[in-house]
Amino acid sequence: MTTQRLFFALELPAPLQQELVRWRAENFAEDAGRPIAAANLHLTLAFLGEVSDETSLRLQQLAGRISQPGFAIDLDDAGHWPRPGVVWLGCQRPPRGLLQLANLLRAQAARHGCAQSAPSFHPHVTLLRNAAHKVALPPRGFHWRLDVSHFVLCSSRFEKGQTRYQVLARWPLSTPKGD
Ligand code: ATP
Ligand code: MG
Repeated sequence: MTTQRLFFALELPAPLQQELVRWRAENFAEDAGRPIAAANLHLTLAFLGEVSDETSLRLQQLAGRISQPGFAIDLDDAGHWPRPGVVWLGCQRPPRGLLQLANLLRAQAARHGCAQSAPSFHPHVTLLRNAAHKVALPPRGFHWRLDVSHFVLCSSRFEKGQTRYQVLARWPLSTPKGD
């Protein structure tokens, strides 16, 4: 049986990824942590872990039945979780649509045997890993708006010293007209 390491996520447009990388370089010390590559910046909705092709297909069928409107996320918060060593970008007020989508995907994953490591969902974009020491965070006042009109299923593989994500499937969020 083959398995893949999978997660549902929101993509960040490439220009936003580039802008965040520039902002990160200007606002965090070089030794603050290991920077995540621009192309890998994303917001995880539900982490599935290693799943079989069968479970993956089933979860994709269920994802395809989700019908909810898109939403906008205001990325205006940052923080540091010392234990996982993560510096993140998040939102002071997560939109209801985001929480609804993530909680649904997480519940469907849990029902199919994919354990969720955290009991609750804290939407965030990981900026730095291995950030175990005290990290000076930029003062509030930054803000990017992310308009979300679809979500994706990604695989994650560690190859040649790098973590690479691949988008396996994509679903729109706006309810199609006449549906
Ligand atoms: P690497 O682990 O190679 O440094 P990564 O963490 O980006 O890179 P993955 O571990 O495959 O790659 O994780 C993919 C996504 O799932 C990331 O957003 C990561 O934060 C999230 N994730 C990974 N493990 C868990 C977990 N146990 N619980 C919740 N989310 C997780
Ligand atoms: Mg990881």
